[in-house]
Amino acid sequence: MEKLLVFGHKSPDTDSIASSIAMAFLQTKLGNVAEPRRLGNISKETEYALNHFKIGAPELLSSVTENDNIVLVDHNEADQSVENIEKAHIYMVVDHHRISNFQTADPLYYYAEPVGCTCTILYKLFEQNNIAIPVDVAGLMLSAIISDTLLFKSPTCTDLDRTTAEKLAKISNTDINSYGLAMLKAGTDLSSFSEEELVNLDAKVVTIADKIKAKISQVNTADIDEVMTRKAKLEEAMNKDVESLGLDLDLLLITDIINSNSQAIVLGSHANLVEKSYSVKLENNTAFLKGIVSRKKQVIPVLTSNAE
Ligand code: MN
Ligand code: MN
Repeated sequence: MEKLLVFGHKSPDTDSIASSIAMAFLQTKLGNVAEPRRLGNISKETEYALNHFKIGAPELLSSVTENDNIVLVDHNEADQSVENIEKAHIYMVVDHHRISNFQTADPLYYYAEPVGCTCTILYKLFEQNNIAIPVDVAGLMLSAIISDTLLFKSPTCTDLDRTTAEKLAKISNTDINSYGLAMLKAGTDLSSFSEEELVNLDAKVVTIADKIKAKISQVNTADIDEVMTRKAKLEEAMNKDVESLGLDLDLLLITDIINSNSQAIVLGSHANLVEKSYSVKLENNTAFLKGIVSRKKQVIPVLTSNAE
């Protein structure tokens, strides 16, 4: 078989990078030629994990052609994927998100489970194929589960994520709590980023209820107030996106990872969808969303059902 390129979504998070590396390793062990790629900059959190387990970052991939054989991890939607994805041959998908805006010309392998992290599914694939996970890859996969579940506090976290994390912690000889907190904290250092960068660190463009083009961005912090001191400039950056991307809704979640709440900044002609969805009133384009931390479980489906 031709070489497989393995990659996660744009604005890659720790799961997208870890899944790409782990999946490329697994495919190589299965006798294929496979290499991980990334579709954007490495976050500080991911950089912390890569450094801790001494693994290099994948190469950047900007576009694919009809000659490329690809494996998608941690996403399936074309809007979140590589340029020209419709031209490439999709060999396999491993994902834990809704399936939307996705079609292929050929049959494919598709592994999906409603768990908290792609690496939880990958762990099963390693087991099924009887392939041992190396110490460094196990540590990176553990980092992905900690990241996606906010140290098991997110409502997306399942029992399988927790037990898989424990097994990966054993393999990688890692103390989950102390390492996890340090890794999450590394991701909350936002001081070096411009407002334009902040609204794109972890951003997803989705179409809600087939009609509302929305960008939903998230930044993790231990201090919402500190991030809110930059509100005017954040709004400026968001307004630019509303115009350039033609957004109906631009929602930035500033998520307090210690207390599991988010402050939302909301712009766009459909900003009232957020008010309706969470029974809040926007004041100066902002509202406090108590207990909301998961874009996937508490935002996209809630906005979708309220938009229909
Ligand atoms: Mn992800
Ligand atoms: Mn994920």
